[in-house]
Amino acid sequence: MYDVIIVGAGPAGLTAAIYLRRALKKILILEAKSYGGQIINTPDIENYPSQIHISGYDFATNLYNQVKELGAEKVIDIKSCDDKKEVVTEKNKYCAKTVILATGADNRKLGLDNEDELIGKGVSYCASCDGAFYKNKIVCVIGGGNTAIQDALYLSDIVKKVYLVHRRNEFRAEEKLVSKLRKKDNIEILYNTNIIKINGKTKLESIEIENNDEKKTLEISGLFIAVGHIPENQNFAKLINLDEKGYVIAKEDCKTNIEGVYAAGDNRVKSLRQLVTATADGAVAATEAIKYIN
Ligand code: NAP
Repeated sequence: MYDVIIVGAGPAGLTAAIYLRRALKKILILEAKSYGGQIINTPDIENYPSQIHISGYDFATNLYNQVKELGAEKVIDIKSCDDKKEVVTEKNKYCAKTVILATGADNRKLGLDNEDELIGKGVSYCASCDGAFYKNKIVCVIGGGNTAIQDALYLSDIVKKVYLVHRRNEFRAEEKLVSKLRKKDNIEILYNTNIIKINGKTKLESIEIENNDEKKTLEISGLFIAVGHIPENQNFAKLINLDEKGYVIAKEDCKTNIEGVYAAGDNRVKSLRQLVTATADGAVAATEAIKYIN
């Protein structure tokens, strides 16, 4: 029996692990993909206190190195029975006194035809992973948040030209990033513009965009979609209360509706989803779990 099972090895889950290990608790971390969560794809973190510049990969690896055990199974359900919790993966069942759900969020899709079919053939959700394939080519980034602006900046140093397509006329990204963006000669910003079609059979050939009923075709080699994230909580919905968007309903103490089950990081209802708030949640959830166990 574990004291705590942590579901998810992103910044929130790994920070929780550090606090729990320091309290000598027996823990298991379950992660379906790789350690690090979304931050692993961020080329440059500039807003984490004490780190002037650090890549997401280095940040996540440093965090990972502070923690030892990692499982590699996908959690498909959690159940509550008496005073213990059961975590069900595709292969196993594990028991613990408490559970921290730190599952983060996955890329939101546009929902257009061809989007899934052309992933890896021109369509990407990760500029830092796939950008190098588009050296000297023309690409397009969709979105207006921090990720889209960072992706456009990152790609502009590799490719010939970046179109940045945003559905509104102002960005929700940080002003510092936006002002860097405006200084780039090879980024063309298309405001009030929506992507309506992705063309290509075996690989991406072009996209169709629309601005006030005016349609246009952009011939591009790469399409980087950065339109936000959706929380990965669907597998817990039977037991844990979620809001209408699928985020776990938990306040600053990270407590869910089930005693001994906590939500930490981007998967819970919160006003600011950043690295610093994810790691803070990990520390809070771990501390609450320790109090509960003791
Ligand atoms: P986000 O802030 O939610 O922005 C998503 C963007 O995509 C918005 O501009 C949104 O448009 C647009 N969008 C959503 N659905 C769309 C659709 N169907 N078609 C076209 N456009 C669509 O997502 P994010 O940029 O991935 O950031 C997620 C969180 O991580 C944020 O809290 C962000 O601050 C944080 N983050 C921080 C950093 C950093 O600190 N440096 C870096 C990356 C991410 P509207 O604006 O019109 O809604």
